[in-house]
Amino acid sequence: MSPFRLFLIPVLLLAGLISGCATSQTDIRGFNLISIEEEQALGEKFAVEVEKQYRVVTDPELQGYADRLGRRLLTGARVVEFPYTFKVVKDDSVNAFAIPGGHVYINTGLIKVAQSETELAGVMAHEINHAVARHGTRQLTQQYGYGLIVQLVLGQDQNQLAQLAASLFGKAGFMAYSRGMESQADYLGVETMYKAGYDPQGMITFFEKLEAMHQQSPSQLAQFFSSHPLTAERIQRVREAIGTLPTKSWLPAESAEFKRIKAKLQ
Ligand SMILES: [Zn+2]
Repeated sequence: MSPFRLFLIPVLLLAGLISGCATSQTDIRGFNLISIEEEQALGEKFAVEVEKQYRVVTDPELQGYADRLGRRLLTGARVVEFPYTFKVVKDDSVNAFAIPGGHVYINTGLIKVAQSETELAGVMAHEINHAVARHGTRQLTQQYGYGLIVQLVLGQDQNQLAQLAASLFGKAGFMAYSRGMESQADYLGVETMYKAGYDPQGMITFFEKLEAMHQQSPSQLAQFFSSHPLTAERIQRVREAIGTLPTKSWLPAESAEFKRIKAKLQ
């Protein structure tokens, strides 16, 4: 590495931190040292580790449903730069998560609690937009540095990769995004739902339901709430985002298939 590049990296990192603070909700091209190809390679490695820790549900109807829902939402995403995957994992905590490279996981506990496909789509749209805006690699670079990410991509240290995957995405894992990133994923999630033909109001009804449930049984929702605190301000911002979109009349969400899927999980 030339001395110039050595000098450049801290300067770029600093610029990234500054622009990170000023990033608007609509700007998905935040500062990111990791290329699309690197992120895809890292995501594939993480996915292997995640699927050692969670049991991917084998039922083809359930997986087919999650996949169709995810693909439909992608039609409303600003960019689709990764080969997205959508998988249901057996876990009763109410949660969904995205890892770098467009791999989205939906816990069975989330499907059990959602009362309509639209509500489920709300959480998935939020997760998809963490991938669209590449929040995972942006956050990891800030937290661990570019060098470590490149090492992981190159696959030099399998142990380190497994440990990091467990601490970020495992059952007790906790991938923490900044508040700005959470808020951007909500904002873009509303837009994605709207464009894909889902009433974004579903995001609000689901958040409100989770908030009410949280008062009664905090433990079941611990993971979702530790990474997605549902403050009144957050819900208000989602409402405002919906308010900026032209009014549409929504067809009632088709519920026969959703009901069948839910029945399978009981
Ligand atoms: Zn989130």
